[in-house]
Parts: sequence; C-alpha cells; structure tokens
Amino acid sequence: MVDRGFALETRLRQREANDLKRTLSPVDSIAERGYFAEPSGGDLPVLESEEALVFASNNYLGLTGDQRVQDAARQAAATVGTGSAASRLVTGDTLVHHDLERLLAETKRTDRALTFSSGYAANVGTITALDPDVIFSDELNHASIIDASRLADADVVVYDHCDADDLRAKLTARAERDESTEPTGADDRSDESWLIVTDSVFSMDGTVAPLEAICRAAEEVGAWVMVDEAHATGLYADGGGIVQSESLEDRVHVQMGTLSKALASQGGYVAGSDALIELLINEARSFVYSTGLAPPAAASASEALHISRYGDVRERLWENVAHLRDGLEALDLEVLGDSQVLPVIIGDRRDALDLAAGLRERGIVAPAIRPPTVPEGASRIRIAPTATHDEADIVNCLEAFQIVGKKVGLF
Ligand code: PMP
Repeated sequence: MVDRGFALETRLRQREANDLKRTLSPVDSIAERGYFAEPSGGDLPVLESEEALVFASNNYLGLTGDQRVQDAARQAAATVGTGSAASRLVTGDTLVHHDLERLLAETKRTDRALTFSSGYAANVGTITALDPDVIFSDELNHASIIDASRLADADVVVYDHCDADDLRAKLTARAERDESTEPTGADDRSDESWLIVTDSVFSMDGTVAPLEAICRAAEEVGAWVMVDEAHATGLYADGGGIVQSESLEDRVHVQMGTLSKALASQGGYVAGSDALIELLINEARSFVYSTGLAPPAAASASEALHISRYGDVRERLWENVAHLRDGLEALDLEVLGDSQVLPVIIGDRRDALDLAAGLRERGIVAPAIRPPTVPEGASRIRIAPTATHDEADIVNCLEAFQIVGKKVGLF
C-alpha cells in the first residue's frame, strides 16, 4: 500500500543518532523540584532546586520571583480576571493593557505601543501587516523573523551577521538591479517597500547589532528599519533596549520585543508611530484574530518594567555579567559577545554536552546549545547570569567551569 504519512519514528531516530534529539524534562525531575508554594523573593528564578543554580534562563533581571511582580499578577487576576477571554477588538480590551502600552511607549520613546500574545506573534503579525516587497535580514535573526518573512512572501536578502558593510553592499546591488530593469508603470521597482530587520542582542552569540550603521545604510536607500529587542528590553537606558541606549528611536521605524525575558512575564509588543500602531490594530492578523494578553501577564510586565526603569536592578545584573565574563576569560575560555549573554564556545557538540552534564552534577544548570540552533563546530554553553545571583553564586559557577572543564579536557 502507498504510504503518504510522515515517517515520524524514522525522523526521530535520525535526530537521536545525530545527538540532535531534544526532550522536555522528565516529569519526575520537575516534581522533585516541587512548586514554590511560599513567596520566594529573589530566589525563585535562580534556584532550580535545593542544590542547583540556573545560569541559563532569560529571566535576566530575576523578576519572575519578585514579590511586587507576583502581587501585580495576583491583583490583576483578582480584579480583571485570569484571561482576556476575547480579542482586544471584541471584548478583551482592559485598562491593564492600556497601562502597559503607555509605559512601553514611554520607555521606548515612541508615540504608542501595542501588545501581542507573544513576541513570536508580534513579529509574524507586524512583518506580514507591513507586507514588504524585500526584507534584508541578518543571517542570525530569530526564527520568528524568518517565519514571518516567509509568510509575508517577500524577497529575502540575507546579509552577514552584524555586518553593516555587507548590508550596504546588498542594498546597493538590489537598487542597481532594480534601476537596470525598465520601469513598467505599475511594476516600477522604485515603488518597492524595503524592510531591514535585525535582532539588537543576539541570544546565542551575545552580539549587539551595529544599529547606527544599519540606520545610516537604510537612510541612503529609503528603507525602513525594524529592530527586535527581545533580549535587550528592560536592560538598557531607563529600562529600554539598545535603540534607547543609542538614542535611535527617531531612526528606527519599528521596535519590537517580548515581555517574556527581562520583563518576567509572557507576551510581545511593538512600539512605533501612531500610524504604525493603528495599522497593526487593523491589519496584524496575530493581533486581530488572537485573544488579548492575559491581564496578569500584562500587569506583571508593567510592574517589572517599572522596577527596571526606576530601581537599581539593572546595575546588579551588569555587575554580575562583568564578574562572570572576567572569570571565564581568566580560565582562557572563549566567550563571545558584548551583552548579558555569555556564550562559552566549546566547538564539538559531544564535548559541549559532556561539559553541560558535568556542570549540572556540580549544581550549575547551563545547557549545551548545539546545531541546528548554532552552526556545526560552534557548540557552546550559553551562560546568562541574572540580577539575583549573588557573589557566591558567580564564584560557584566559575569553580564548576574550572573543575569540569579540566575533566572533559578543555584545559
Ligand atoms: N525574538 C527573539 C530574538 C527571541 O529570542 C524570541 C524568544 N526566544 C522571540 C522573538 C519570541 O518571543 P516570545 O518568546 O515572546 O514568543
């Protein structure tokens, strides 16, 4: 009989054979960790269990366990409800959403902001609503940008990672190609809309995009710039991202981010001009046809953003980052990047897995990142300290690297 199925077992076996099979945590091991029934202050994000420190989460400011953030979620659940129960355009719109969007716009220094049910949905909804003819995309952009570009059915031109010169060359080449094509009225290519999209902080490399140079290149050809600040929101100037630390809000047309990392919640946002937000409210399908953000998620993100803007939590994160980076480099390990993400390059995927397993045995949770997430031969341990790690936690992590690194033959 003809088999028109999908050979799932074969595909899974192939993954297994290539060390590429991922699994969720065994339920027993999660159950052992238990639920944190008592308010746990700053410990929750750091402590995976009694004897394990997490150095791999995106909870950069450590605010998922913050009493004030938890209280904000609780209060919103009690007063507004646990869910929005409909699209914002139907009956799901609440003051909690508008409060968060006002604070996001203020932080991102834009006219307005709009929340989505995830950062993934924000990218997909925004890029498809803009409907660009051509998208110029950094080669290491997040999967949600890649998927959005496919769905938008745009021509995609990929430029080298964080390389504004390569971007400029590709913009020029496309412009020359278009000029050499005879304009044919309705098809005149000078009418094409061009969108340059980049992450600001790249989550697997810790690199920071050269945003000013990208804006300059865009301005030379009249293209728009969209920046994904998922890994930067809440961490830089006044709780903003790299766009704010470089004062580029007037030159970046679309700022996008997530509420699920430093802002300790769940959901995504876009910040920009009044016209951009109005367009998204009308045409971003992942906004129009999706239930509004859950009120506890919106309220806890607001509280976390407030804490980031007006507290000293960011300074504590950056102190931890500097301490950890210095210590890892003193061990002669190769640490990439220029942000709070510290990727320690190991190379071989098996070595990276062995190192991660050894670290775990010593109570440090920092999984190996392997292909296809990163290129072959560039497997790594992705370390990300949080603001709530203390001095002893950082020292523990460095000691574990030293001991386990020796054991697996790194030095
Ligand atoms: N963009 C980037 C750069 C991300 O890292 C992520 C999350 N991993 C997203 C978008 C999607 O955000 P969310 O998790 O809120 O869907």
